[in-house]
Amino acid sequence: PAVPRLSFRDGGTIPQLGYGVFKVADEIAADVTAQALRAGYRHIDTAKIYGNEAGVGRAIAASGIAREDLFVTTKLWNDAHGTDDAIAACEASLARLGLDYVDLFLVHWAVPAQGQYVEAWKALIALQERGLVRAIGVSNHPAAQLEEIIEATGVVPAIHQIELHPYFQQRELREVHERHGILTESWGPLGQGKSDLLENAAVTDIAAAHGASPAQVVLAWHLAHGIVTIPKSVTPSRIVENLAAVELRLTAEEVAAIDALDRPDGRGGADPATKTA
Ligand code: NAD
Repeated sequence: PAVPRLSFRDGGTIPQLGYGVFKVADEIAADVTAQALRAGYRHIDTAKIYGNEAGVGRAIAASGIAREDLFVTTKLWNDAHGTDDAIAACEASLARLGLDYVDLFLVHWAVPAQGQYVEAWKALIALQERGLVRAIGVSNHPAAQLEEIIEATGVVPAIHQIELHPYFQQRELREVHERHGILTESWGPLGQGKSDLLENAAVTDIAAAHGASPAQVVLAWHLAHGIVTIPKSVTPSRIVENLAAVELRLTAEEVAAIDALDRPDGRGGADPATKTA
């Protein structure tokens, strides 16, 4: 399937649908990542804290796919926001991945209570200048901390990766992103199996109308909103199914029906404002 690419404000592009590997053990990461690459994914989302960068790296090395045809994201963990720690953490991630650069490096959480998110962002700016990372962005930053790192450095993140799915649509943060030209990337795009999202009648009715699966409908909704998304599965048929969502076009009415599912209490994961290390 042909995956659309979205442009970062300062140049470069990202495949709009990628493969996420949260909670995938390192022992199986190489196998499932290889399956994703064979299925046609060219964008992989990992993180230091997932403990599977080495497995992802083995799959990349064995794939024979040219480096410039791949897009690899990893993330800086919360214990390494200090300048020297952040530089060392990036170098260690690259070593585990077996890469000499990543396409996108993210500050994983702002952890406001720790108070080092500006320092962490400055470290990512330095890493980009040194060529170890192509694009830099953040993840799990409340609007206040997002504005603060921009104000403090004059450098706008290329992308912000946040919990986002039909039950938790993050409209306010998406407006902040739009104002700054920041791409929105959704984690937990399928609701992480924590809710009845994939059984919701609004979703299953649309799925039936298209002969598609509920997961494909939800992913097509993300894509219709211009959101970059990184669904995870370790099931071979679902790995293929999720990628094929790029071929599903929802009508404006269908998108609106899913827009109506937003809930004030829809958050499934930690709140970035109160997250501690
Ligand atoms: P997800 O919403 O992608 O849900 C994954 C789960 O949904 C699977 O484990 C499976 O149970 C189910 N599923 C997947 N495909 C399906 C299908 N076709 N049909 C039915 N069920 C299906 O949740 P996630 O893995 O937490 O998020 C995706 C990725 O986002 C992660 O792998 C990771 O890369 C990233 N992530 C980032 C953060 C962050 O803090 N930045 C947090 C969580 C996840």
